[in-house]
Amino acid sequence: MASSASTTAPTAHPPRPFAVPQRGSSVAGKAYWAMAQRVALTAAAIDCGYIALFLWLGSLPLALVNVGSIAMYLVAHALIQRRHNTAGILLIWLEVVAHSALGSLLVGWDSGFHYYLLLFIPAVVIANSGRYAAPIVLALLAYYLGLRWACDHWGALAPLAGKGQQIVNAIHVCVVFGMFAALAAFYRRTILIAENRLLKQATLDALTGLNNRAHFYTLAGHTLARIQRTGEPVALLLCDIDHFKQVNDRHGHATGDQVLVTVAGVLSRNLRESDVIARWGGEEFLALMPASPLASALEVAERIRVAIEQTTVHHQNNPVPLTMSFGVVQVASGDDLQAAIARADKALYQSKHGGRNRVTVG
Ligand code: GH3
Ligand code: MG
Ligand code: MG
Repeated sequence: MASSASTTAPTAHPPRPFAVPQRGSSVAGKAYWAMAQRVALTAAAIDCGYIALFLWLGSLPLALVNVGSIAMYLVAHALIQRRHNTAGILLIWLEVVAHSALGSLLVGWDSGFHYYLLLFIPAVVIANSGRYAAPIVLALLAYYLGLRWACDHWGALAPLAGKGQQIVNAIHVCVVFGMFAALAAFYRRTILIAENRLLKQATLDALTGLNNRAHFYTLAGHTLARIQRTGEPVALLLCDIDHFKQVNDRHGHATGDQVLVTVAGVLSRNLRESDVIARWGGEEFLALMPASPLASALEVAERIRVAIEQTTVHHQNNPVPLTMSFGVVQVASGDDLQAAIARADKALYQSKHGGRNRVTVG
């Protein structure tokens, strides 16, 4: 199939550390950066709450750390908004690394500031190849154990009074649980979007959005298996645009594509939800019509023929006349699909030889 869509050569560069999708490069990429911005704003908002908490617990140093954090998150948000994506994301991670260290050293390991470092593990592994992820995760482990050692060695430099540490720990546990759940939900959504897109690419024709040939066989197989049980009549309709090559030659390939999309629209509007419609080849379309005796399939084909004849596509204000030829056959229970398509093709051939713009029963 000819297509005006350009293709992109695979990149020759290995993925970078912290390789995250480039902004605007894909749906998943856009979602990633929108998520990164939301994370920065949410974290800044949470830090506002922490300022109030630490002032209430009487820890001015921790409140000041959170003021610095808010500033870093707001700068990171602004950087991502201005498309300095890598700088923005690195600033967010820097904040997490510094904040977990300062918090742990000031009020002790058991305050749970270090839980936030664990968020790095899924984020880094998902966004990077093993070549980069493994050393980053190992470096993180070394940092984590080093921080643990430093906390044990020096003790809390500015401990909280009373049950302060337990309160802070409980709040951190809740926040980190929420963050892990949000991270998992984000990646699940991203996977579903990608899966959906791949499924569409594998089953639908990119130009018209109709089923492609391979998917037609799958869907038609299901329909025919069902019909074997119920015994309902099934018809097959094969149609082909008349003198389509001339449309391309006279009006250009883009107009030809527009005609194909228009024809697909007419077919979809005139066939039922339960009919399986496919772009069979270049300018050929096939429909399997369950619960359709031959007489009603003929009626539908005639209705489509008239609709196509009355449809006008314009190219530079010039109307492009359109007609289609049809072959319609009844598919008996137990009939071989391939053989039925061959019969429909023969009937279509007769329509062409009979002068085109007509319906022939095979
Ligand atoms: P007939 O009435 O006998 O069917 O003649 P025709 O010109 O329609 O048939 P022919 O097989 O000679 O030409 C079909 C043309 O369809 C040739 C091919 O370039 C064009 N074509 C196939 N796929 C596409 C497509 O995706 N876009 C466009 N614009 N043209 C396509
Ligand atoms: Mg044709
Ligand atoms: Mg053809």
